[in-house]
Amino acid sequence: MALPSKEAVIAHVISISVECADCGRNRWWRPDQLKRFGVTGNTPLAALSARMRCMVCRADGLPGANVAIQAAFIDERQREVLMQRSRRA
Ligand SMILES: [Zn+2]
Repeated sequence: MALPSKEAVIAHVISISVECADCGRNRWWRPDQLKRFGVTGNTPLAALSARMRCMVCRADGLPGANVAIQAAFIDERQREVLMQRSRRA
């Protein structure tokens, strides 16, 4: 079975989950809500974790970069988990 993981772009997904390892919050976004992060339909999923931030932590003045991204795909309804662990001294 071929997973759409490597070359998948935002246009292939119906929603994106951002789970914050710092505050524990999880939020689902629709692709059209991601423009505020500079994400378009052509943005690779692999590049997403570097762009997404926890909005709750951001509101508290924290980086909000310690997030795990999960994508729900349109076609196969498969979920791809892209882990992002950003450690900042
Ligand atoms: Zn957070």
